[in-house]
Amino acid sequence: MEISREAFWNIQYGRPVYLGMLLLLPICYSIYRRYRLWSLGKPVEKLEKGRLGSFITGAAKILIHKRLLGIGSIPSSPKELYAGIMHALIFAGMLLLLLVTLLLAVHEDFVPFMHGVPYLIISFLGELGGIFAFAGLVMAVIRRYIRKPERLDNTLDDSLTLVLLLLLIITGFVIEGLRISATIPAPPWERWSFVGFALAEIFGLEKVSLLRWHKWIWWLHVGIFYGTVIYLCFSFPKLFHIIVSPINIFFCSLRPKGALAPIANIEDAETFGASDIDDFTWKQLLDLDACTNCGRCQDSCPAYISGKTLSPKRVIRDMKVRMEERGSKQSVKSPALAGEIIKDDDIWSCTTCRSCQEVCPVFVEHVDKIVEMRRNLTMTQSRMPEAVQLMVGNLFSRGHPWTGAQYMRLKGDWMDGLELNILGKEKNIDTLLWVGCTGALADRNADVTRSLVKILQSAGVDFTVMGAEEPCCGDPARRIGFEILFAEQVQQNIEIFHKHNVKRIITACPHCFNTIKNEYRQFGGDFEVLHHSQLLARLLRDGKLKITGGERRRRVTYHDSCYLGRYNDIYYEPRDILSHLPRIETVEMPRFGQRALCCGGGGGRIWMEEPVGTKINRIRTEEAFKTGSEVVVTACPFCLQMFDEGIRAKELDKDLKVMDLVELVETSMAVSGEEIQKRRETG
Ligand code: SF4
Ligand code: SF4
Repeated sequence: MEISREAFWNIQYGRPVYLGMLLLLPICYSIYRRYRLWSLGKPVEKLEKGRLGSFITGAAKILIHKRLLGIGSIPSSPKELYAGIMHALIFAGMLLLLLVTLLLAVHEDFVPFMHGVPYLIISFLGELGGIFAFAGLVMAVIRRYIRKPERLDNTLDDSLTLVLLLLLIITGFVIEGLRISATIPAPPWERWSFVGFALAEIFGLEKVSLLRWHKWIWWLHVGIFYGTVIYLCFSFPKLFHIIVSPINIFFCSLRPKGALAPIANIEDAETFGASDIDDFTWKQLLDLDACTNCGRCQDSCPAYISGKTLSPKRVIRDMKVRMEERGSKQSVKSPALAGEIIKDDDIWSCTTCRSCQEVCPVFVEHVDKIVEMRRNLTMTQSRMPEAVQLMVGNLFSRGHPWTGAQYMRLKGDWMDGLELNILGKEKNIDTLLWVGCTGALADRNADVTRSLVKILQSAGVDFTVMGAEEPCCGDPARRIGFEILFAEQVQQNIEIFHKHNVKRIITACPHCFNTIKNEYRQFGGDFEVLHHSQLLARLLRDGKLKITGGERRRRVTYHDSCYLGRYNDIYYEPRDILSHLPRIETVEMPRFGQRALCCGGGGGRIWMEEPVGTKINRIRTEEAFKTGSEVVVTACPFCLQMFDEGIRAKELDKDLKVMDLVELVETSMAVSGEEIQKRRETG
């Protein structure tokens, strides 16, 4: 007897099920309806080339569930791992079942190939797919209705989707069991359909009844499938992300992660940023439909975690509701989106840490949207928190964002006692040390700048500083949405760099680093930019820095700056430097690398008050303290300040201190006994 079976067997009307192809019509219609909503948005100014490559990479990441399972990054927490395994099982199961169904159709109507071994393998894969999907769906039920994590909403749509999918799988297994039972004694190869074979044992019915039940349940199964697809098409539940997510990944931004989109023709614009749905681009609206409501962004958001009202998930959901309202036939009046539906406090609570985007499985881009709304509040509505107004005032009047800074950028301040090349009329500057406003003007950070200068000089790096001529890089203005000011600052700086033919820029500030490296290009400034951690790691590798030993054994923990890590993927170099330092033991905080918790200072937040909830820097300080480290090491002037405040506020000064990476390197370099003694005395 040949190892095979008749595909439709007991179902005489098998082929008409191909009428199911007609389901493509409602699917296309549904996509068209959503397309009309996305079309409410503005055109995307510049759709970068090279999309296919990035789509393949993005699709591969989804296929292996890279983000959900934490593959190739920091291991997921057990909670995240559970959700990741659950989704991977449903995804793999459904994919296998779809594949087997398609192969069955090919065998039946085009190339009959399911005989012998191919038949056995395909039967086995079908059963495996069913088991995977069933297990994943049961995990989903347990998670949603027993564990009930706060980030899930549990709507009627969620329940209905789970019920329909479970019914689809269960009826599939029952059909298989009835078919095998009706053919008893079943051929031995039917054991490859192992679930159906086991079920066949318990269906103790007469053959006539088995055939009748088989037929009915087969049609029920097909009906549930059609019903699910039609439900998908007309109510547009979150399951529709199966279709929209790949489209969203195809069109995701290919800009460097650290570069916000510029405003085209800013000089002629009458309004700025986004006050309502039609001020966003169609791609930003497409994002809203790709969202699965999984809540991962919310769980990783420092603002949400610390008790603010901002939830990135809610921002996306509220925008989606607004898009649907605006797309409906009825006229929709105020309220506007920015400031009324999404409150000012939420818009200003964002630290632009990018944690939400890093964890989003379907590549939703939250930060751009929040900054678009800030642009509207700042430049169109002139509505900013008082602290932001003060900061803007400082940028205009003093050329830097700080109020009451004691230091100046001049000789006699941070430069005191240092021999430096200060920018004059030179035509060609090979290496410029960009100090940054905070590195020059905040006294704690000026210490870091001095350490960096000494290290560079001892390694023989020839560099120039701008001194009093150094302006702000533009990051604060851009992050608070003041794009006009940012554009002016950048153009001015590029002009200076070009005038002196600057080739390479080194900086200790990840914010300056990110802006000059990734955003100046939008204005025609393309320079080699290095963060100090990159340069120091290189100097250490090349043996140009003489490390002789630390003062004493120390346990330290490294805090990843968002603008160095998540925005620029610099995770390795700072840790590499620490590994070169003798007598330094490094321990990680529970949230590190891509998952590191923000210090709370990015996105202009360092200049703002934080009256609601717990202060983010204090949560992070606590995490650092719990590692038992005596030093929390930073590589960012904002992080340094935020930890400094956190340590003092929590009265942990005796147990924990904060140092920049360069300060730690300096203590490990050849220093005199007298100097070491002095350092010990001053703590
Ligand atoms: S960027 Fe950071 S603070 Fe802003 S919404 Fe995303 S996770 Fe929250
Ligand atoms: S935006 Fe992304 S991470 Fe947030 S709920 Fe939607 S799919 Fe999940």
